Amino acid sequence: MPELPEVETIRRDLTREIVGHTIEKVQIIDPRVLRTPPQDFIRRLQGMRIKQVSRRGKALIIHLSSGEYLIAQVMMTGQLVVNQARAKHTRLAFKLSKAAELLYNDQRVFGQLRVVSSLDEVKYFRILGPEPFSAGFNDKYIQAYLKKTGRPIKSVLLDHTFVAGVGNIYAAEILFRCKIDPQRQATKIKPREAVCLQKKTREVLKQAINARGSSMRNYLDAAGKKGSFVRLMRVYAREGRPCLVCGHGIQRIAQGGRSTFYCMKCQK
Ligand SMILES: [Zn+2]
Repeated sequence: MPELPEVETIRRDLTREIVGHTIEKVQIIDPRVLRTPPQDFIRRLQGMRIKQVSRRGKALIIHLSSGEYLIAQVMMTGQLVVNQARAKHTRLAFKLSKAAELLYNDQRVFGQLRVVSSLDEVKYFRILGPEPFSAGFNDKYIQAYLKKTGRPIKSVLLDHTFVAGVGNIYAAEILFRCKIDPQRQATKIKPREAVCLQKKTREVLKQAINARGSSMRNYLDAAGKKGSFVRLMRVYAREGRPCLVCGHGIQRIAQGGRSTFYCMKCQK
């Protein structure tokens, strides 16, 4: 599932590839990905120029010349690719000016696209916590939030009301780098560990953005290429392999229906 670094990589690619283009024609191949009625979706997009592509959490925001926004939440398997061949899972095709084409591919059809006139119309944006690189994600905020919840720290990191865009892969990598047991209750996180969480969240996400994300299964950037953060993973998907710090085997446990990878020797 794409997390912040993957969506940010797509955003940067799209900024380069589609900003300034006009949407000439919208072709709906599979309306299940739409959260705006199909006729409305087409009418509000066709003829509009793309002014900017931004991101909030794991959602992409395409700013239109009408003042409205096309919001894309790619969820599990959605991909936004430019100038690629159409695929079996292509659900939407946007013919752009200068003979460019933007495709929305989605194997499992969990993704959601909609046109809104205000970002407040999207529930996800209303409940979302601070962006990890914003001033709002500071150690004071982190400590205050963690004090209020008895949940395991791993679950809190995944909670997008706490911080926007961190998912299963990066949560495991952040906790390993801070030497924190993913099962530890959030209330038991010490102040210096809260500082570490802030620092390592930013560091891991920055590294992952520089590596153009992690491709475990379906994620591709806008050019249809895979990300390379997989090579920098220290615990995620390394079950049974030696910890890079102490040599002990990496454990895999289930937490909230998701796999958690950690080193029980280094993370206490
Ligand atoms: Zn270890």
